Amino acid sequence: MSLKNFFDFNFQTLKQFLSTDLKIEEKKTSMRAKQLWQAVYKKGLEELNHLTTLPVELRDELISKITLKKPKIADTQTSEDGTIKWLIELLDGNKVECVFIPEKTRGTLCISSQVGCTLNCRFCHTGTQRLVKNLDFSEIVNQVMIAKEQLDDWKEQKIITNIVLMGMGEPFYNYDNVKTAVEILKDKDGLNYGPKKITVSTAGIADKIPLAAKEIGTYLALSLHAPTDELRELIMPINKKFKIKDLIEQCKYYAETVNEKITLEYVMLRGVNDSKECANQLTKIMAQFPCKVNLIEFNPWPGVNYLPTEREDMESFSKIIQDAGYISTIRRSRGQDILGACGQLRTESERKKLN
Ligand code: SAH
Repeated sequence: MSLKNFFDFNFQTLKQFLSTDLKIEEKKTSMRAKQLWQAVYKKGLEELNHLTTLPVELRDELISKITLKKPKIADTQTSEDGTIKWLIELLDGNKVECVFIPEKTRGTLCISSQVGCTLNCRFCHTGTQRLVKNLDFSEIVNQVMIAKEQLDDWKEQKIITNIVLMGMGEPFYNYDNVKTAVEILKDKDGLNYGPKKITVSTAGIADKIPLAAKEIGTYLALSLHAPTDELRELIMPINKKFKIKDLIEQCKYYAETVNEKITLEYVMLRGVNDSKECANQLTKIMAQFPCKVNLIEFNPWPGVNYLPTEREDMESFSKIIQDAGYISTIRRSRGQDILGACGQLRTESERKKLN
């Protein structure tokens, strides 16, 4: 019989497996599943051999049927500012990137949901790569596991305090896997990230937003980037399918359901979406549902045709929004020297092939 990979189970299917394949008696399956689950996700167990709290026969049987094999790190780059980017080679050979951003009071891990992307946002480096595949939930969760292993983050006081699905890919075009991955991230017996410690960022797949409000329930970030359909369509082709009016409706529902503000992401492109008029139009959108805006410094990449907005222009844009009574923050760019900043993720393997 071929080995099953532990990370392909959620808690429910792990219990089933223990009872059907390992013939553990009904009343003990929950307890054993919990023991395993906690050892792996809470303590970072890397080898079943080391699970000395299990009876020897059970441990041997587990070893003969389950593996804890994980994707491996193909490359690590550390930025001058402490940001770390890992290139992870999945078990099928595909590569995906995730980034750790340390700050004074928290540590954020930015993870990917797809290899490549279908959206083609004009300013995004990942958008120049075709979609290779949707990540399985295990591949999403394992980015967190690998980062925790690298940082030795298994103590009560977490090093990775926040997780954002803002890496490669569109989370809502891989909805089911993202949903299961978030369930595993949230599990109190495991990784134990509260729903307010996780942010899912979407380019605005409007029909998935209400479902996510009920089933995922984390913070939601919407990549708006333009205040009118006309302009948004130019920089984000997805806007041809999902219009701003619909996004507003769905975000309103999400904010009400989760009882939290939506974060609007707004990447500032010089001379494109950074005018005073744009700022004023943006405040009209912000009036319609609980939200705040995060102005993102544009991170250029080789071959792109946009320039970042000057700092002082970002500040005056931000002030217009604040004067209208809304929260506006400017996101500092991190890890730019290692192409680890927002929208710059694009696997080395693909780039090498192109050259
Ligand atoms: N598909 C999802 C998540 C991935 S992108 C989404 O669109 O939200 C994460 C964020 O980085 C998005 O807001 C995206 O628009 C932004 N981004 C992409 N390229 C960027 C760049 N070059 N500079 C700054 N931000 C960028």
